[in-house]
Formats: sequence, C-alpha cells, structure tokens
Amino acid sequence: MKEDCIFCKLANGVFDTVTVYEDEDFRAIMDIAPAAKGHVLLLPKEHMADLLEMDENVANKALPILQKIANAMKEEFRCDGINMLQNNGKAAGQTVFHLHFHLIPRYDEDHVILPWKTLSYEEGEALAVANSIKKHL
Ligand code: AMP
Ligand code: ZN
Repeated sequence: MKEDCIFCKLANGVFDTVTVYEDEDFRAIMDIAPAAKGHVLLLPKEHMADLLEMDENVANKALPILQKIANAMKEEFRCDGINMLQNNGKAAGQTVFHLHFHLIPRYDEDHVILPWKTLSYEEGEALAVANSIKKHL
C-alpha cells in the first residue's frame, strides 16, 4: 500500500466506500462523481500507477471481472451500452494515480462522453507510425 494514495486506502478497506465487488486482488466501487448513475471503478488492491506499470497477475484477472460487472450492469440497468475507460497520465485525463478502470452505463442519445474530433493520415503515414511503435515491442 502506498501511504499517500487514496485508492490504496479505498481498495484495501482502510477508508469506507460503497463496494460492488471484492476479491483478494480487487475492489470495485461506486465512483464518487459519476458520469452516469451506476459508474463503477475497478481498483487493484496492490498499488500501481497505471497501465504501463500494471502487474501481470492484475492484467490477467482484470478483464474477466470487468466483463462480469458490465454484464451485471447491463442486466440491471437495461442500459444501451457501457464504456470501459482507463486513463494513463495527466495528459490523458488521469487524476488519481493508482490504476483503475471505469465502467460507465450509457443510454442512446445521453451525450455523456463527447466523441473526439478525428484526424486523418497522409498516404503511408499510418504504416510509418505503426512501424515506429513496433520497433519498441
Ligand atoms: P481518472 O480521472 O481516470 O483518474 O478517474 C478518477 C476517478 O476517481 C474520477 O471519476 C473520480 O470521480 C473518482 N474518485 C475520486 N475520489 C474518489 C473517491 N474517494 N471515491 C470514489 N471515487 C473517487
Ligand atoms: Zn495506490
């Protein structure tokens, strides 16, 4: 646990929170400032800042839990869709620097999350960009 990390304290039950799911590695809680009613955050109990630092055990276990909660939300809310979001770094909108995944129920025409303005690639640019990433893999 990281001493100054609020999500470490929430995930490990040091601070009280509304929990929708818990196992030995994770806690899923209700977001305190939800984008929509039913907005859930899945937190690993172990501290890691973001996706880039994610532990392999957490990586392997997170997606099936997110799927399970998303299906429960769909069944209960009868929502039309669900966003699964995950921000890494301040520039990407991360405000709490303990890895977490957002699950947000969505309804037709709710306009909760504005889509981004799209760009386009010049001829061959997408391939060049892909290759520049690939050389680090
Ligand atoms: P992000 O911007 O991806 O880092 O998301 C952080 C999220 O944590 C936001 O949606 C906040 O509303 C939520 N949040 C911050 N503090 C708490 C808290 N004490 N309990 C529940 N959710 C929180
Ligand atoms: Zn933490």
